[in-house]
Amino acid sequence: MSERKRVYIAYTGGTIGMRKVPGHGYRPVPGYLQGLMDAHPQFHSREVPEYFVNQYEPLLDSANMGPEDWLRIAEDIQTHYQDYDGFLVLHGTDTMAFTASALSFMLEGLQKPVFLTGSQIPLCETRNDAHKNLLTSLMMIERFSEQIAEVGLLFNDRLFRGNRATKLKASSFAAFESPNLPPLCRVGLDFHLDRNLLRKPKTEMGPGLTIRKIGAATVGTFRLFPGLQARFLESLLEPPLQGLVLECYGAGNAPSAQEDLMQVLRKATDRGVVVVAIAQPLFGSADLHLYATGRALLEAGVVSGFDMTAEAALAKLFYLFARGLKADEVKRQVQLDLCGELSPPQPSQNEWD
Ligand code: ASP
Repeated sequence: MSERKRVYIAYTGGTIGMRKVPGHGYRPVPGYLQGLMDAHPQFHSREVPEYFVNQYEPLLDSANMGPEDWLRIAEDIQTHYQDYDGFLVLHGTDTMAFTASALSFMLEGLQKPVFLTGSQIPLCETRNDAHKNLLTSLMMIERFSEQIAEVGLLFNDRLFRGNRATKLKASSFAAFESPNLPPLCRVGLDFHLDRNLLRKPKTEMGPGLTIRKIGAATVGTFRLFPGLQARFLESLLEPPLQGLVLECYGAGNAPSAQEDLMQVLRKATDRGVVVVAIAQPLFGSADLHLYATGRALLEAGVVSGFDMTAEAALAKLFYLFARGLKADEVKRQVQLDLCGELSPPQPSQNEWD
């Protein structure tokens, strides 16, 4: 009989392991999650890998997490990389898509599955989604650890590519969606892995894992809105800002008739600020060639982020600047597909119906 796989669980916090504390509501309680898992016979089934839980101290609400926490998780994975077949990061749902995106860029040469999951209702409740998300993640790693070599986000029976996922619903079990890429794996009566979508591990990088430390660059995201005044955007674009994800209308449009606004963008891009346009609608791509209002952005030196999520585009800017690239090279590479985060536009991609 073949041996069970080994999975390293990095438990960073979030609702999944919280417990109701009288007078305080839900809060993370050290040791509680592992106790519940260990006591449950399903987590010891032969279909579930052996697991080791590293509980972080302190356990965090993901609203309080940022680049330092991404690095801590990445280093934790690197330290245990050779000893485990896969990694599961238990994480709050609020910023899970940001962490998943960041890890997808940071873990260079990844050849094993790294999944993030969490839940909307903690494991301690009689009716919850924590049990299913945990068990499904573990079982999926047990089955497919040799085939999946990327960062995934598992929620509600679907495994998404980590840098394609976004939190769409605040109070639904189907909290996450991957608007522009189908799930890598769907779970119903059985597990349906879409092998054609999986990233191929880059074997030329060797069996080791390298970590790119990101987070030092000054970058941000900004959503266009009607009534935006040029001086507002101007102050945002001032030094030390290096890069901005500009969430544009429709398929990548901006108020081109507002000349002062366009000039502010032009001045910033001339100074070397990298401005990347993505689409406010979650489904679809920013195509700056489609309308005059998009072309005005191109003329202002803005580049297209195509169908990237805001989370992925932000992580990518952090990553490209962390590699020490000059602004022009960041501009070039931000438009390329580096780790599955973007689909370059196809001429026939626009849906007119
Ligand atoms: N605020 C929590 C967090 O993101 C929500 C959750 O876990 O779902 O950590």
